[in-house]
Amino acid sequence: MKKISLLAITLLVCSALSYGWGFFGHKVVHQLAIYNLPKQLQGFYYKHQNYMIAKSIRPDERRNDDPTEAPRHFIDIDVFGEEAINTMPEAWEAAAEQYSVDTLLKYGIVPWHVVVMQERLTNAFKQQNVDSILYYSADLGHYIADAHVPLHTTVNYDGQLTEQKGMHSLWESKLPEMFAQTYKLNAKQAEYLPNAEKQIWKVVRNTYSLIPNTLEYEREVSKNFTDETKYDRVERYGKMRQYYSDDFAKAYQQRLGSMVEQQMSAAAQEVANFWYTAWVDGGKPDMDKLMYQQLTKAEKKQLKQEKKAFKRGELFEKDLVIAAKKADKE
Ligand SMILES: [Zn+2]
Repeated sequence: MKKISLLAITLLVCSALSYGWGFFGHKVVHQLAIYNLPKQLQGFYYKHQNYMIAKSIRPDERRNDDPTEAPRHFIDIDVFGEEAINTMPEAWEAAAEQYSVDTLLKYGIVPWHVVVMQERLTNAFKQQNVDSILYYSADLGHYIADAHVPLHTTVNYDGQLTEQKGMHSLWESKLPEMFAQTYKLNAKQAEYLPNAEKQIWKVVRNTYSLIPNTLEYEREVSKNFTDETKYDRVERYGKMRQYYSDDFAKAYQQRLGSMVEQQMSAAAQEVANFWYTAWVDGGKPDMDKLMYQQLTKAEKKQLKQEKKAFKRGELFEKDLVIAAKKADKE
């Protein structure tokens, strides 16, 4: 009995760390991605909006019982040297030949896994298999969103190597949860990606370029705080743990400016681009025919309202963000 609960606690503690975007962020990204889709796909995804949002976090949950899951969420690219971000072979086979599969798995494989998921989703469209389309859309979206979090692209993933421990959840969970309602999350219709592999590497390189500021701004802001004001200390599982305080998060968010909201918008944009591209490459099946039920009049009206609010940056104000609704939070 004691063993079981200890294991459960260990899993809980481990899994609290390095969840890309936190649950809240992933859910928001998937909701927004649907608004960016073109008409031929939007009805289908909107019909399954609740699924897409709820399952946006499934890959993180899977980490608890699947040991092969963890490396799919990140890439510690700088472990291979300062230039690795520009020199790492984009194709899996070439990278594996250079560094070995074991080494790549150890330091994370997110860009390569996105390519695998993209192929599976494309196949699902080809086969017009609704279950698979939904399943792989949700998983693919999760990994693409993770690739937009700067601390998912460095071996210093929690600031632990630079005495900034705790930065991971500060950036990807605390900030979005505290400030998303003030973010200007913008919309742009999905674009076809001629080369999904190239695109995800472009994303990773851009995300990686944000690391210096991510860390440097934390140091700058820290100058105005003492240890007491910078952290909240709480006891968890009999151990004292410290988290960044709300006041610190506020100051840090201000210093970061639009970084988090830009990454969130970009993630939603990119998720839509990949879904749309898989659909095109899958032969553009007629999605209306794959719906067990067309959108009702009320649903069409609701979708229109949500898209309008999204365009105006009023989703939060109008309480249309599903992950931010009270019932979802509990
Ligand atoms: Zn993740």
